[in-house]
Amino acid sequence: MAADTRTWVEKAVQNKDTGATSDPEAPMQSDITTGDALDAVQAEIRACRLCADRFAATHTAHDPRPVTWFRSTARILIAGQAPGMQVHQVGKPFFDRSGDRLRDWLGMDADTFYDLSRVATVPMAFCFPGYNAAGSDLPPPPQCAKTWHRPVLDGLGDVKLTILVGGHAQKFHMGAAAKGGVTRTVAAWRDVAPDVFPLPHPSWRNTAWLRKNPWFETELIPVLQARVKEVLDD
Ligand code: SF4
Repeated sequence: MAADTRTWVEKAVQNKDTGATSDPEAPMQSDITTGDALDAVQAEIRACRLCADRFAATHTAHDPRPVTWFRSTARILIAGQAPGMQVHQVGKPFFDRSGDRLRDWLGMDADTFYDLSRVATVPMAFCFPGYNAAGSDLPPPPQCAKTWHRPVLDGLGDVKLTILVGGHAQKFHMGAAAKGGVTRTVAAWRDVAPDVFPLPHPSWRNTAWLRKNPWFETELIPVLQARVKEVLDD
């Protein structure tokens, strides 16, 4: 029998499509009845429909589906951009090929990445922003971070390491220090490490960027992986 070369994401998505539930890694929204200090905020976000008209006017004409993934005990914060279409469908952050690449960069397996007690994912928008007519992802609606970031970030009391994925998150969290664009911001990673690491978006569309900037994988990634391990082991 031929070896199954699909990633665990691909297997789980197929299980979702076929209704199979036997895969222990099958997608699910996180439980929000845990007694955690952020449960109420998380429930409010999941009920949020502020961008309904905006999303209805996109090429995808979809309804809001906020994807939340955080608890107050998290030690690592992954501040991303916004869910893509696949994450919108399954309700689990970075549950796609970009997530596979991000986990490789972090040196983190999927079980650890989705361990809510240790890792939080807070994107610039909790909902998929939609595609434009050219099929590209639209930017995250600014309304989301304006409305929800303060209560969420205030509730994450024990974060030791923040990973800023892509230019939108870098501008929001780093302010003027990220004004030079993603390449310059990531190249200056030593200015903010070891508590903060700016990364390019792990989209496969950035493969050419990775080829042009080999220092990212040879210099930044080993230090990032060591820091991730240190924080998780602490
Ligand atoms: S993107 Fe954010 S503000 Fe907009 S509907 Fe979703 S949760 Fe609400």
